[in-house]
Amino acid sequence: MNRRRVSGRTTVALCLGLELAVAGGAQAQRPDDVPALARMADVKAALAAARTSEPRTLDDQIRFCETPASPFKEAARAELLRRAFVTVGLSNVRVDKAGNVLGERPGTQARPHVVLAAHLDTVFPAETDVRVRREGVVLRGAGIGDNCRGLAVLVAVARAMTEARVTTGGPVTFVANVGEEGLGDLRGVKALFSDTLKGRVDRFLSLDNAGLTISTIGVGSLRYRVTFRGPGGHSFAEFGRPNPAAALGRAAAHIADLRVTASPRTTFNVGRIGGGTSVNAIPANAWMELDLRSSEAAALTALDRRVQQAIDLAVQEENRRWGRAYSISVQRERVGNRPAGFTSASAPIVRTAQAVARALGLTAGPSESSSDANLPMSLGIPAIAIGAGGRAYESHTEQEWFDGTNAWQGTQNALLLAIALTRD
Ligand SMILES: [Zn+2]
Repeated sequence: MNRRRVSGRTTVALCLGLELAVAGGAQAQRPDDVPALARMADVKAALAAARTSEPRTLDDQIRFCETPASPFKEAARAELLRRAFVTVGLSNVRVDKAGNVLGERPGTQARPHVVLAAHLDTVFPAETDVRVRREGVVLRGAGIGDNCRGLAVLVAVARAMTEARVTTGGPVTFVANVGEEGLGDLRGVKALFSDTLKGRVDRFLSLDNAGLTISTIGVGSLRYRVTFRGPGGHSFAEFGRPNPAAALGRAAAHIADLRVTASPRTTFNVGRIGGGTSVNAIPANAWMELDLRSSEAAALTALDRRVQQAIDLAVQEENRRWGRAYSISVQRERVGNRPAGFTSASAPIVRTAQAVARALGLTAGPSESSSDANLPMSLGIPAIAIGAGGRAYESHTEQEWFDGTNAWQGTQNALLLAIALTRD
């Protein structure tokens, strides 16, 4: 996930339709009852188990991380999670068509059905060195926080519930899902909500990365692969033909000059470029990958329109520059579409999450993120993403590192919240 801390209250305008859907869909959890819940014998025992087994949680975190899970190549890590789910006593452990690993823990009643999820995938290509170095409380490794921390805590929560024989209200389904990062395009949760668990999820909690933040705003994104094509030719003999790389350069420059708002936070990025065959050939094609984001759906749509205009303008300019028979054409392929969504700051799921942190003596501030929670948010299902404890730095780089100081607090926080959300 990508996350941004929000200072104070968020100022994003409420979408009325979604707000009503969230309020209508939420069962009345009782944030006020959380301190009493934390004192119940079985819950107390589970919280204690979560703390004492933190060394095991950290071992899991390293173990999961040292098995690569590049986008679309999550199967090996998924198998580790499948086995872990069986070991900690979950029932009906299975892998769905999309590659998501699911395991269940029944409650005393059928609803509310809580889904606790953590994504399997990383942003790193398959050849990345994923060995983890341990230096005291610090763990260094690609993906160690995002999202090996979430995966380890997912398993730790299930283990603590089993060990302490916790009784929950509704059932909990634990999910290690595919496709959160990069061009994965939320395909794991999309499959979960449109097929595997369609119509059966009442509350969704994503464990994503470290820290203790509560993300209620799902930043939406649109991603494109834009390909410019032209006649190509010898750089000297055919000089004068329009150049796809030059058209791309013009487009990138126009996009770079776009003005966007800080609130709602709206951003753009030309992330990858490529094309051509040789230094002495006019390329026949050049491509770029674009990432457009906003915490508000309307702002994202507006940015999208301006970016498409910038691309059209660049093509016209390059064709006009040479004014010959040949021309550049452009093809836009949408490779990512994450809906923007949000859960109201006053929604029961958010107030419960805050009450849980308070009951454990922790501070969990609000943040905006782009995570698996976007999808249920956009469907009006109560959903948040939280950090799974400890602290992570340099996420999405090979220099990523994790500070495990008091990381057990994050495990306890996820555990108590999962239990609290199963109650009416
Ligand atoms: Zn993540």
